[in-house]
Amino acid sequence: MKAIVIGGGIGGACAAIALKRFGIDTAVYEAVKEIKPVGAAISIWPNGVKCLNYLGMKEALRKLGGNMRFMAYKDYQQGKTMTRFSMDPLIQSVGEQPYPVARAELQSMLLDTYGRDRVQFGKRVTHVEESADSVTAWFEDGTSATGDLLIAADGTHSIIRQHVLGYATERRYAGYVNWNGLVEIDESIAPADQWTTFVGEGKRVSLMPVSGNRFYFFFDVPLPKGLPQDRTTVREDLQGYFAGWAEPVQKLISQINPETTNRVEIHDIEPFMQLVKGRIALLGDSGHSTTPDIGQGGCAAMEDAVVLANMLQTNSLGIEDALLRYQEKRAYRVKDLVLKARKRCDVTHGKEMAVTEQWYEDLKSETGERILSGMCETILGGPLE
Ligand code: FAD
Repeated sequence: MKAIVIGGGIGGACAAIALKRFGIDTAVYEAVKEIKPVGAAISIWPNGVKCLNYLGMKEALRKLGGNMRFMAYKDYQQGKTMTRFSMDPLIQSVGEQPYPVARAELQSMLLDTYGRDRVQFGKRVTHVEESADSVTAWFEDGTSATGDLLIAADGTHSIIRQHVLGYATERRYAGYVNWNGLVEIDESIAPADQWTTFVGEGKRVSLMPVSGNRFYFFFDVPLPKGLPQDRTTVREDLQGYFAGWAEPVQKLISQINPETTNRVEIHDIEPFMQLVKGRIALLGDSGHSTTPDIGQGGCAAMEDAVVLANMLQTNSLGIEDALLRYQEKRAYRVKDLVLKARKRCDVTHGKEMAVTEQWYEDLKSETGERILSGMCETILGGPLE
C-alpha cells in the first residue's frame, strides 16, 4: 500500500510518521521550499502529547516542552491575581502533562522523526484525480504522484478540500488579531513555571514557558479584518492597544522583538461532517479549521493521524472502508473542538461584553476546578487513554 501525503506541517508529518510505523509506504509532498510556521509556539495538550508519545517521540518532546505547572489569570489594570491554581489535578486525571513548545522545534522534531530527506519540498498540488484503484496528485511543476490513497494535510487553505466536499468553504473571521512570539523568561513579568494571562476589555495577554528559558507570548485584540500590517510599528501598535494595562504587560511589549513577532487574523471554518471521498482523506486544518482558543487545532491533527493509521492497520475491508471508519471516528470530535473553541473565543474577546464581564467576575471565584474539568473533558475525548 502506498500513501501520498500532501503537506508536511504538523498533520502531514504526523500522518507520515504514523503510517510509516505500520510499514505503509509513504511519500510527503510539501508546497514550500522551507516550512515557516505561522506561529511562534504551540501548546500541545495531553491528548496531543499522547499521540506524539504513541508515535515514538516521548523523549524528544520532553526536551522541547516548557515546564507549565500553574495557571493564573490577572486583571489588566493592576495585574492583580484573579485566580491561580496548580495544573497537577489535570495531569493526574488525564495521565499526561501539557507541553508548550516552539513551533520551529516541533516541526524539526517531526521531520527528523519521519526523515527529512523523504519529504519532497517545492511540490505544490494543483489538483487530484481518482480512478477505481488509485489516486493521483498533480503538481504546479507539471509532475505527478500516484498512490493507493491520498492524505490531504494541506492546511486551512486546502485546495483538496473542495474536491472532497464538492463545494468551496469560506474561512470565517473570528473578530480578533493575535500577535505572537518568543522572549527570554523574565520573572518580573510572570513566573517561569506558569501559564499567565492578563484579561480585560475583551483583550488578553498571555505567557507560557517553552524550553530554552523562553516565554511564548501572545496578545489578542478584537479588531476589524484587513487593517494594514506594518512590522516597524508593532511595538507602538501594542502600546496603543494596551495603554493603561499593568506594568508587566508594558514590560513585555518593550521586550518583544518586532522582527520576529507574528500578526495573525484569526479564522475558522464552519464544521462539516465529510472528511473523506473515496481514497482521499482530509486531515488536520484541511478537515477542521479552528480558532486557537482552546489550543486544540494541532492536537486534533495529531489525533487524526493516529486514528487514520490505526484504521488502515486494523481493518481489512479495503482502503475506502478504512477511510470511512476514520471519518466516523473523527467527524463529531473535530466538530466539537471547533465549536468549543468558537464559544471560548467569543467569551474571551468580548463578542457580548456583558458575558465577558461576567467571565471576569467568575474568574475571581475560580478555584481551578471548573477550568480544569472543562480541559479534562476535551482532553479525554481524544483517541488515546
Ligand atoms: P499546516 O500547519 O497549515 O500545514 C499545511 C502544510 O501544507 C503547510 O506546510 C503548507 O505549506 C502545505 N501546503 C498547503 N497547500 C499545499 C499544496 N497545494 N500542495 C502541497 N502542500 C501544501 N494548535 C494547538 O494544538 N495548540 C495551540 O496552542 C495552537 N495555537 C495556535 C495559535 C495560532 C495563532 C494559530 C493560528 C493556530 C494555533 N494552533 C494551535 C493550530 C495549529 O497551528 C494548526 O491546527 C496546525 O498547524 C494544523 O496543522 P496542519 O498540518 O493541518 O496544517
